[in-house]
Amino acid sequence: KVGSSLSIESLASGILAGERSALARGITLVESNAGHHFKEAQALLQKLLPHSGNSVRIGITGVPGAGKSTIIEAFGSYLCGLGHKVAVLAVDPSSTVSGGSILGDKTRMENLSREPNAFIRPSPSGGKLGGVHRKTRESMLLCEAAGFDVILVETVGVGQSETAVRGMVDFFMLLVLTGAGDELQGMKKGILELADAIVVNKADGTNEHLAEQTRMEYKRILHFLQAATPGWNTRALACSALTHKGIPEIWSVIGEFKEAAELSGVFAERRRSQMLDWFHTVISDQLHYSFYQNESVRQLLPALESDILGGRKTAASAAEQLFEVFYRRGE
Ligand code: GDP
Repeated sequence: KVGSSLSIESLASGILAGERSALARGITLVESNAGHHFKEAQALLQKLLPHSGNSVRIGITGVPGAGKSTIIEAFGSYLCGLGHKVAVLAVDPSSTVSGGSILGDKTRMENLSREPNAFIRPSPSGGKLGGVHRKTRESMLLCEAAGFDVILVETVGVGQSETAVRGMVDFFMLLVLTGAGDELQGMKKGILELADAIVVNKADGTNEHLAEQTRMEYKRILHFLQAATPGWNTRALACSALTHKGIPEIWSVIGEFKEAAELSGVFAERRRSQMLDWFHTVISDQLHYSFYQNESVRQLLPALESDILGGRKTAASAAEQLFEVFYRRGE
């Protein structure tokens, strides 16, 4: 059982020794929504923090059906073949609401899951605001401490979660499909500007030629967009998760990226600012949470809402009044 400092100690040494069962238990602790597990998880992370960070963190996004699972399977197996240890994590934006998960219900990645050097963990369920993101970040640290040197973080392409994943990885990859020019035009500029590489998947069979055309089209568009990483020209690639064509090229582009970004200092700088951003996110989430949990705030809130709606108070003065009762409690 986890629970005493002794067992946290042994869990930590199990993880450092690369024991999968210890890693899985550590992640379960981190993912737990039970209040009393929070302190234990933090104690565990505290011990392992000095052993984390030694990996390349890669985010993968794309609409459902783009081929994320299939690519992760192909790419992950390829990397294991090169001797890497690959951890696959997921951020499922919908799990905050439904408690479901993107990876959990999939029987895909079967080959990768049999790889002794791969570790696949489905998206955690949310709990309170920001929960999924915290859990994935912290699980990532545990995986690194267990010796995984490539972390793949999958998310579905639906806005918010992409930004969150961009904020926890070094390299961000957007999977796209061949499509009519219209579809390309309709693609949100914002998401293209988060990516370090745009990968046109399913470049196989009769689709190969079209995929190459689509790749060229993205390449052209990228000239007009802001690069996600200073000093790095966002790449447009094509691959087939089915035939594995283009899969090794993805890895060599990531290698190129890492080398360039380490040399320029952008790599370390991004990690530093990610840590600080995360710190401030946790603070504001916590503040937000305790504010709305506050008994006096809760009591006063409905009356103030109707005052605002009735034109009797401005939003700012109503908020001011809430802060007064919120802070008074601590006096
Ligand atoms: P996800 O929803 O983004 O995870 O997409 P999946 O990995 O589940 O893939 C969706 C469908 O596309 C599946 O039926 C895959 O077999 C198929 N698929 C994925 N990659 C390729 C590819 O490179 N070529 C072809 N022809 N089909 C692919």
